[in-house]
Amino acid sequence: MIRYKTREEIELMRESAQLVSRTLGMLAPLIVPGAIPLDLDKRAEEFIRDHGGVPAFLGLYDFPNSLCMSPNAQVVHGIPGKKPLQEGDILSVDCGVLKNKYYGDHAYTFEVGEVDNDTKRLLADTKESLYVGIREVIAGNRIGDIGAAIQEYTEERGYGIVRELVGHGLGQKIHEDPQVPNYGQRGHGKKIQEGLVIAIEPMTNLGTHRIKQLNDGWTILTADGKNSAHFEHDVAVVNGKPDILSTFHYIYDALGLEAEEYEVV
Ligand code: MG
Ligand code: MG
Repeated sequence: MIRYKTREEIELMRESAQLVSRTLGMLAPLIVPGAIPLDLDKRAEEFIRDHGGVPAFLGLYDFPNSLCMSPNAQVVHGIPGKKPLQEGDILSVDCGVLKNKYYGDHAYTFEVGEVDNDTKRLLADTKESLYVGIREVIAGNRIGDIGAAIQEYTEERGYGIVRELVGHGLGQKIHEDPQVPNYGQRGHGKKIQEGLVIAIEPMTNLGTHRIKQLNDGWTILTADGKNSAHFEHDVAVVNGKPDILSTFHYIYDALGLEAEEYEVV
């Protein structure tokens, strides 16, 4: 059952989402060759607790850390380890917090030093596909419209869009109804209504859409070993239109990047 949120709840959720955004912004300049993912995980946990939140993933379904950190061919749910990042890697960082009883959950894929052009293009296109999906979050549209738009954009460019893992409703639980697939058919699925809050999170592979899981029980990686990107925002329906509760601006500020215009919906 979908739990639609009041304006007051949406403002609390914006605080939670923004704490995730600030955590990702804090991490951004630290994601460099030689950095140890496990150290970054500890920094994030401290930062979240110092700002009145609790890391949402720590202990969730027994996950051992605060961040999911998935380098290169890892799609999502990677466990932060001690292997240093290397020049040319990419690193998907997914972060969740619980604050004031509401969850925030969003993700960004970072470049570590200089990455190859195909991978650069994968990151830019996956990020854009997230906004392509967000533009469909209009009252009266259907959940299938979001996935259809993302899938179309992604497959036109020759990438594989992951099917087995999907976006989701968000609120007092981190995974609420409805599921928000990154593929689908226009006109299908639940109708989008005022007060809906969802996490949209395309997971896009340079090669095949197929995935496999490591025997650590967590890490999802591409079946063909090619790179994968993951971008996620928390989005509410306010006045019938998408209101993005999270932001990448802390990351852009930290890295000295121009904020892309397409962030404005
Ligand atoms: Mg999520
Ligand atoms: Mg997430």
